[in-house]
Amino acid sequence: MKKTLLVVCILAFAAGAHADFGRKMLKKDNVTAVQKAAKAATLSDEEMKELSLQAVAEMDAQNPVVPDGDPMAKRFKALVKGLESEDGLSLNFKLYNVADVNAFATPDGSIRVMAGLMFIMTDDEVLSVIGHEIGHVKLKHAKKQYQKAYSVAAGKDAAAANSGTAGKVLADSQLGKFLEDVLNAKFSRNDEAASDEYGFEFMVRHGYDYHAMESAFTKLAELSGDEGKKSLKATHPGSAERAKAAKDRADAQDRKMKQASR
Ligand SMILES: [Zn+2]
Repeated sequence: MKKTLLVVCILAFAAGAHADFGRKMLKKDNVTAVQKAAKAATLSDEEMKELSLQAVAEMDAQNPVVPDGDPMAKRFKALVKGLESEDGLSLNFKLYNVADVNAFATPDGSIRVMAGLMFIMTDDEVLSVIGHEIGHVKLKHAKKQYQKAYSVAAGKDAAAANSGTAGKVLADSQLGKFLEDVLNAKFSRNDEAASDEYGFEFMVRHGYDYHAMESAFTKLAELSGDEGKKSLKATHPGSAERAKAAKDRADAQDRKMKQASR
């Protein structure tokens, strides 16, 4: 259960092309009906927030947190200290006690890091991943994923959607499918690249070692082996490609700082 509910963000490339709920899930014969329902089913900001909180509550319920007092928990707390109000956002952080090398964010500003990531990365590398996740929140990337998953969940049973559910965004019967989809959602190549750029600027803004993003992605590329190489031309940017982009940014920043100090 834990596995299937993980949002594959950092390691999104491993599975190849990104998910497309609309096409993947629907049988040919009901596409038109669902498309009609999907058009009508637009999430308001309030509904979006409510569903986002439900999604993260579900994840929090399913994943143990590294206990306070554990050295890794202390290290994590020190890293995220002061980031609760970042760039106009209200953020909260948890460190899941699971071995996956991963992290995710939900649109309400909940950022979750898996212990596996802390094991293999330095502090600045972890921060570069956190900066990337904050980018997804700030740039509202998940909104698209939520809207898509919501349209599908509501469209599957259009009669139940928005009627007879008395104040609920989705009926209970629809919620499970919605959560499964949204928690497995992958971002587009463009969104990942935009978050990488945001994360890099986050590192510069805070005076963290901005070279750490390159080394973080290099580690992920090594972890993914052939999958990472194969995905260079796939829908999702592979880690090697992202490491290269991070290196180019860091080199440019080095030059900028050298010039400024002249
Ligand atoms: Zn991402």
